[in-house]
Amino acid sequence: MAANPFSSRSHLKVGKRTFTYFALPALEKAGLGTLSRLPYSIRVLLEQALRNHDDYVVSTKDVENIAAWGPKTAGQVEIPFLPGRVVLQDFTGVPCVVDLAAMRAAMQRLGGDAAKINPLVPCDLVIDHSVQVDAFATSTAEQENLKLEFERNGERYEFLKWGQQSLTNFRVVPPGMGIVHQVNLEYLASGVLTKQDGKDTLAYPDTVVGTDSHTTMINGLGVLGWGVGGIEAEAVMLGQPTYMLLPEVVGMELSGTLPEGATATDLVLTVTQLLRKHGVVNKFVEFYGTGVASMSLADRATIANMAPEYGATMGFFPVDAETCRFLQKSGRDAEQVALVEAYYKAQGLFWTPDAPVPEFSSTLKLDLATVVPSLAGPKRPQDRVPLTAMQKEFRTGLSKDVKDRGFGLFGDQLMAKATIADDSKAVIAHGAVVIAAITSCTNTSNPSVMLGAGLLAKKAAARGLSRKPWVKTSLAPGSRVVTDYLQKAGLMQALEQVGFHVVGYGCTTCIGNSGPLPAAISQAIKDGNLVASAVLSGNRNFEGRVNPDVKANYLASPPLVVAYALAGTVDIDLDKEPLGFDDDGKPVFLREIWPTQQEIADAIASSMSPEAFRKQYGTVDQGPPPWRKITAKKSALFAFDGGSTYIQEPPFFTTMGRAVGTIAPILGARALAVLGDSVTTDHISPAGNIKKDSPAGRYLLEHGVQPADFNQYGARRGNDRVMTRGTFANIRLRNFLVQQEGGLTKHLPSNETMAIYDASMKYQQEGTPLCVLAGKEYGTGSSRDWAAKGTFLLGVKFVLAESYERIHRSNLVGMGVLPLEFLPGQTRDSLGLSGHEVFDVAIDDTVQPRQQLTVTAIHPETGKVTTIQTQCRIDTPVEVDYYRNGGILQTVLRKLLGPAKPVATKAAKAPVAKTTPAAKAKPVAKAKPEAKTTPAAKKPTAKPVAKKAVAKKPAPKKPVAKQAAKKAAPAKKGKVAAKAKGKPAPKPVAKKAVAKKPVAKKPAGKPAKKGKR
Ligand code: SF4
Repeated sequence: MAANPFSSRSHLKVGKRTFTYFALPALEKAGLGTLSRLPYSIRVLLEQALRNHDDYVVSTKDVENIAAWGPKTAGQVEIPFLPGRVVLQDFTGVPCVVDLAAMRAAMQRLGGDAAKINPLVPCDLVIDHSVQVDAFATSTAEQENLKLEFERNGERYEFLKWGQQSLTNFRVVPPGMGIVHQVNLEYLASGVLTKQDGKDTLAYPDTVVGTDSHTTMINGLGVLGWGVGGIEAEAVMLGQPTYMLLPEVVGMELSGTLPEGATATDLVLTVTQLLRKHGVVNKFVEFYGTGVASMSLADRATIANMAPEYGATMGFFPVDAETCRFLQKSGRDAEQVALVEAYYKAQGLFWTPDAPVPEFSSTLKLDLATVVPSLAGPKRPQDRVPLTAMQKEFRTGLSKDVKDRGFGLFGDQLMAKATIADDSKAVIAHGAVVIAAITSCTNTSNPSVMLGAGLLAKKAAARGLSRKPWVKTSLAPGSRVVTDYLQKAGLMQALEQVGFHVVGYGCTTCIGNSGPLPAAISQAIKDGNLVASAVLSGNRNFEGRVNPDVKANYLASPPLVVAYALAGTVDIDLDKEPLGFDDDGKPVFLREIWPTQQEIADAIASSMSPEAFRKQYGTVDQGPPPWRKITAKKSALFAFDGGSTYIQEPPFFTTMGRAVGTIAPILGARALAVLGDSVTTDHISPAGNIKKDSPAGRYLLEHGVQPADFNQYGARRGNDRVMTRGTFANIRLRNFLVQQEGGLTKHLPSNETMAIYDASMKYQQEGTPLCVLAGKEYGTGSSRDWAAKGTFLLGVKFVLAESYERIHRSNLVGMGVLPLEFLPGQTRDSLGLSGHEVFDVAIDDTVQPRQQLTVTAIHPETGKVTTIQTQCRIDTPVEVDYYRNGGILQTVLRKLLGPAKPVATKAAKAPVAKTTPAAKAKPVAKAKPEAKTTPAAKKPTAKPVAKKAVAKKPAPKKPVAKQAAKKAAPAKKGKVAAKAKGKPAPKPVAKKAVAKKPVAKKPAGKPAKKGKR
């Protein structure tokens, strides 16, 4: 801990307590500029740098860089971020804990102390992602679903109990208690964190990273935080900083108030559309203006939650009077609330409407009075549809081209209908709502929309309306506080009357755990080839996300979810057509039963209290009876069970040595998949159903697991065997190598079509490294560490895409997979790449962040050579180290192990020297300047290296580059490429490069050896 950087160490008296803090105003006195011009979010980053200043991890320059933030310098400077705590959900949290257990095992194998592996910052894991909606529309739904959840997840839950007992600084919120971000908002977040610093109690802003992209919700409470990959979160848990480029900050000024009839959900869909259009990817968004001052904290949290949908790193609401009011109303201790107010005021971080507006990189405005009731869909959250235009938009979408996010129907297909073969004998058509789900912390954390749904249900029930029989209805609160206030407001019964019984306390439909549709309904959809729809109060609606039977997914407020369950179709104009008819045969229109703002405000006032929060959270760690029954032993090492199909020791460290290796070229790679734009992490690593005939399904069957017990991919993230088989197995993934949907590819050069996993195994047996070619926004969607881990375990050495989603790019580096980017204006199509080529990447140990790297693509049949300059998306020097070490975890493990002892170094190097002469090849570094400065066409980069190396000393397994070289010799290839560009053949350069580079003796596709990447 810094002693007194910039003479900033100060004291703050709050009531009878005295705290130490690092005062930001001291930086102004030290001449670092006027801090009030900085966005509040940047000032929070500045505080953490000041506090952690040690001139090692955080330098004086880091502090100065943050203080010097300006619209023009943003995006250029890398800074360390040391968040105060970590939150995990179980889908992504289980593999984090599995990795900690595997690191403990590796630590012991390598001669270190296993017990050193613990979270070093407070870490909370909320088990919320595993509950699925099997039972619904019955008073026993919650208990039935909870029972099934424990049956399906017993092994994972036993493992997490081991973690709870054996790891320090690690808390678990058991299943059936709530959703991570809502629990964070209502309970875990404290506004100001404290810890002992010698005799002093240090106070500092609550900051957090989480293994879920919607961690951003907590920014509604003024807590700076966002989602990171599981591997980054593990590094933070282990005391490492996470690194980021000091971001641009977009200021969004809100004014006015929401009009009657509009909800917080309508507001956030509007904000999402505006910010998407503005362009906020990789940027902070900060809200200000009179509209913020009058906005409830719950509404702010709803807006902050959907930052991933508008593409920002996070959307920040600075701490103000409303923050303190919320902390008090949600049952936080009065002394803590006083500390929050005093601390932020002392730091100049307490926002008021008349405070000076900071400088922003850019700004935009929204008058809340212009917000109208809306939905968003049918395939993307930013495609907002005003309620009044819904029917027209849906009908237009039916015949629109698929590439324009339509459904591509024509002629008679548009008129299709099907009869449900159950007692109802109902006839459904396109637009039939088969799922209506009040789900997702985005909305369940907001009492105004939850009570609004209850009030609408009450009025509908009073008129005799209920859900249509084909609608699968569900209510999944994000905490038990919600049920408490719904009951106190007398609305729970009304929701049940129209079909919305509590199905569980967790993510459910929001994460794709909507459960199967009743068989007759599923069959009717198939029979009619119908575009069935879901209406959900979630935040994501990618194809295949919500349910495999549902193609059109609309995000909407909870009251609208209830309304569409009553209507039974989205093919309806709710302005003109009734939702149904009452007992007297009179039509019931939506406007008649829509709750007023006053009714909602009255319901909030009468049903919510701090005591209810304290009561519900007072016992949150105990969990439901099945959790309490689980027994788990405390032990330093977890006893991995080889027979488990849920928890296995991942092979990330099994071949790791203490010594760090060197970075070598990637030679002879084949494309495992060739993908288009907006490939999501769900396409790469699906969280949903495991198909029986998929590689993962076959693996489970071989291990005695029946299809009924397959569970979801998300639930099996503790087992690398399942997850690797599931990588790229999404039924909606389109791989251009095979021109069809599903996790298939073409093995080359055999041209056999097979599952991507099977092809990967074949390639790995052949010693062929792999790559993925992709379009824009590769890896968009929820953070998902298995999207990177699975990619790595499939043998993919690099991805070449037009652009990346922030977290996924960083996760690829964190797993030792090289992310490369086409230069602006270039694409796979513009370069004429089919994916049938053999690829070399000219990278070596001198690689620099964001350096241009040459990729050579040779078509083995035509001999055509394409030389591509690419942007290396290893963005920072620290990431270079991660890549050199083989990943973040290996880097951390080596740090905790300490310097390699002489004996260990010898042991690590000896086998490398035998099998990979490149490890000793210092001259590799010399070749780099040529790669950087020599035009690609003049230098056939790695290909001659392969030939020379192979000719001089054959590697144990041939690189594919050698096979390609037989068909297109280096000199000839150089000539071809040079001729294509009208330049002379580059033989001399190529020869020189060959002479200096023995690197290719080790094919890049081979498994990493000790001390070698
Ligand atoms: S409810 Fe949805 S947004 Fe919230 S944590 Fe669960 S999956 Fe993420």
